[in-house]
Amino acid sequence: MTDIRTGNGYDVHALAEGLDLWLGGVKIESPIGCIAHSDGDVAIHALCDALLGALALGDIGKHFPDNSDEFKGIDSKILLDRVCSMVKQRGWAISNADITIAMQKPKLAPYILSMRETLAGVMGIDVDRVSVKATTTEKLGFVGRGEGCEVWASTILLK
Ligand code: MG
Repeated sequence: MTDIRTGNGYDVHALAEGLDLWLGGVKIESPIGCIAHSDGDVAIHALCDALLGALALGDIGKHFPDNSDEFKGIDSKILLDRVCSMVKQRGWAISNADITIAMQKPKLAPYILSMRETLAGVMGIDVDRVSVKATTTEKLGFVGRGEGCEVWASTILLK
C-alpha cells in the first residue's frame, strides 16, 4: 500500500531597494529584493515548509534559525537540499511541488522555467513535477503596494 502525505507552506518577506532578489533558486533582475537573514528566497522557504509540513517535522525556522551565524546570507538552495535529505532519509519520495508567488513587480514570467529547472535539480525530480506560478494582486494589499512578496507552496510525498 502506498502511503501519501501532503504538505503546505507559506512565507512572506518584506522588500527593499538595493537588495538582491532570489526566487526559486534563481537571481531575478530587480531593483528591489527581500529583506532576510538568508538570501531571502521566499519561494524556497515556502517549499521547505511544505516538505517539512508533510512529515510533521516542524518548520524552517526550527531547523535553520534566523539568529544563527551559520545561516547568515546562506543560499536557500542549501536549505532545500538539507530538507530533501530529511525527506529521503525517512524513505519518502517527492511526487510533486506546486508554488504560487504573489509579487507586484518585476514580471516573473521570463524566470519561471529556470526556477522549475533549478528546484527540480535540487530536489532530484523531473521538471514536470515542479510547478511555479506567479501572480500580482492587482495592486491590492502589501503585495500590490510592492512592500512584500508572498508565496504558497504545496507538495505530495509518497512512500
Ligand atoms: Mg523566509
